[in-house]
Amino acid sequence: VDATIAGAWMSAMGCLVERNKDHLTALDAAIGDADHGTNLARGFAAVRTALDAKEPKTPGEVLVIAGGTLISKVGGASGPLYGSALRSAGKCLGDELDASPTRVAQALRDALAAVKRLGAAEPGDKTMVDALTPAVDAFDAALAGDGDLGSAARSAAQAAERGAEATIELQALKGRASYLGPRSVGHQDPGATSTVLLFQALAEACEA
Ligand code: ADP
Ligand code: MG
Repeated sequence: VDATIAGAWMSAMGCLVERNKDHLTALDAAIGDADHGTNLARGFAAVRTALDAKEPKTPGEVLVIAGGTLISKVGGASGPLYGSALRSAGKCLGDELDASPTRVAQALRDALAAVKRLGAAEPGDKTMVDALTPAVDAFDAALAGDGDLGSAARSAAQAAERGAEATIELQALKGRASYLGPRSVGHQDPGATSTVLLFQALAEACEA
């Protein structure tokens, strides 16, 4: 993964978020404040603008800029969470020009750790952690089984999707949805749902 692929990842995420904006917002309307789709669409549009302006030369720099932009431009909980995730992934990659699949796996692991640190959520709390955790595990497993980056990202996206679907029956213990208590059961978590898109976007960027 070089700066071009990392940039393509962020662009693909912007497109997927834009296309799924209404769905994400509808999920957030059920157990939150109906802004998840618009939050992310605005955030990733700002990421595209920042990357076009700064023309980063390494994948690490791409992700650090993307993360910083989400942190400063998105008001909701998801901005700082996704922002910290991408910034940690970028910092992990340092100034490498072309990150190997193993290094990408380490960066994704750091992204998960950053979300858990900032949000203090564990699997089962009905948050993006419920999609991100199985996704990162599946990414590692696919690489260990000789998969290439694109297929590892596809397995991660599928694992994230299963994780997101499994949030339906959970009660939210973190974030805005937790205010609903047991009434949060029966709805899919919006952040876990957008995490699926993050891995689909990575797969698209790697396969292009
Ligand atoms: P807000 O809740 O501030 O309106 P968004 O609607 O953009 O922000 O994002 C909501 C999503 O953020 C939730 O669906 C959940 O996945 C995620 N989230 C909220 N709080 C946490 C947390 N403490 N840890 C991890 N993820 C969280
Ligand atoms: Mg919201």
